[in-house]
Amino acid sequence: MADDGARGPRAVVVGAGPSGFYAAAALLDAGFAVDLLDRLPTPFGLVRAGVAPDHPRIKAVTRVYEKTARREGLRFFGGVDVGGGAIPVDELAARWDAVVWAVGAPVPVALGIAGEELRGCHPAGDVVGWYNGHPDHASRAFDLEVERAVVLGNGNVALDVARMLLRDPAELALTDMADHAVAALADARVREVVLIGRRGPFQAAFTDGELAELGRLDGVRVAFDADGLELDPLSAAALDAEPEGSPARRKLEALAALAGASDAGADAAPADRRLSFRFLRSPLELVERDGRVGAIRLAVNRLAERDGRLVAEPTGAEETLDCGLVVTAVGHRAAPLPGLPLAGGAIANDDGRVAGRAREYVVGWAKRGPSGVIGTNKGDALETVARIVADRDAGQLAPTSGAPDAEPWLRERAPALVAWHGWEAIDAHERLRGERAGRPRVKLVDLSEMTTVAAACRT
Ligand code: NAP
Repeated sequence: MADDGARGPRAVVVGAGPSGFYAAAALLDAGFAVDLLDRLPTPFGLVRAGVAPDHPRIKAVTRVYEKTARREGLRFFGGVDVGGGAIPVDELAARWDAVVWAVGAPVPVALGIAGEELRGCHPAGDVVGWYNGHPDHASRAFDLEVERAVVLGNGNVALDVARMLLRDPAELALTDMADHAVAALADARVREVVLIGRRGPFQAAFTDGELAELGRLDGVRVAFDADGLELDPLSAAALDAEPEGSPARRKLEALAALAGASDAGADAAPADRRLSFRFLRSPLELVERDGRVGAIRLAVNRLAERDGRLVAEPTGAEETLDCGLVVTAVGHRAAPLPGLPLAGGAIANDDGRVAGRAREYVVGWAKRGPSGVIGTNKGDALETVARIVADRDAGQLAPTSGAPDAEPWLRERAPALVAWHGWEAIDAHERLRGERAGRPRVKLVDLSEMTTVAAACRT
């Protein structure tokens, strides 16, 4: 617990995902007391609500965050909605010496094409939040009574969604996937997922490890276009310049291994589900049939060099592909918060210091946009905290000294506040339910149920 009598510098970190925890740990190291807030009663952000249920090893990073949460000087306050009305954004800097925004990039990028609003088209974030039991998305319904789904985008989120739609439901039932999604996917009729990239395999954003997993999915055949993995001359030249073992080379090798396995398996008994890669296609329109998505119209692209970058350029040819479900996985941007400047999909900042706001800082996806792996957020948070420390040492963090402890103020405005003990009660409850079912945990997905379980212990 923070020692308010000693009155060292106090920081508030808004958002208890990976970047928030790394910032909190670095601030504690630098002698700050830290209040870590989250809108949800549960911590860990995208590790809980974003990482795929069949990636338990990635989720094990929460052990590091638990250690941080138990450190002297750190207080976790879940169920606190900053900017949601009772806790205005502008009030934080009046109550803490430094404010760190670790609020991620939750807003899906829209394609801006006709038909995007049709039933049957969903941003990947909604689907990911749904299968991971995020309370905002738990009550969503997706029509999985369709033979073919299209996933737009060539990043790791697109691969996650495709894998969840195709993976054997019996395997999903052993993970921490939300119960409603386990049940819905067990009844799903999806037989093919087509992954569509606007550029070629060399430019795709997904990574080799995630690709290799696709080759290990029981009952799923991976297929490629007639053009397959052939590189255009510009991409081939770019590949030549790549050093041995580079991520781009490893990615192409993983794709080639998938194509090889697919060819070798062509004579074997047909798999009943299929994952098809289609490169150099841009979405033009979602075509309506019976009041919902029935097909997607695609432009066939070629690559052209612009300002040293290979971009997609339409050839003039078009294709139409029947499909009943479209998931857009084409990126995210930061959500607007009153008074915080946005630029390029993130909160405008100078190496972590929010532009035009004294004593306010930013980390993680809210700072640099949605890029990198979980560990990327550590160095990113260290950079921001170095700025905070420099500002403190320059005497720029003084104005709130003498302000009372903010906890009573927070509790008054967030009646459903959940402290770390409350989260531990939720965690124990979920693990116990999981143990009985042979799963890591069975998640609570309803906010009031979470707060009831948390309230059963002293918060
Ligand atoms: P991403 O890696 O940035 O991929 C976005 C994809 O969308 C790119 O292929 C991009 O193509 C495409 N795109 C953007 N605008 C488009 C448009 N208008 N039309 C068609 N395609 C468009 O983003 P992400 O998949 O959301 O992932 C975010 C971050 O989380 C990444 O760093 C990712 O590696 C990470 N992540 C990691 C894991 C894991 O490690 N297992 C899992 C999930 C996510 P262009 O390249 O042509 O722009």
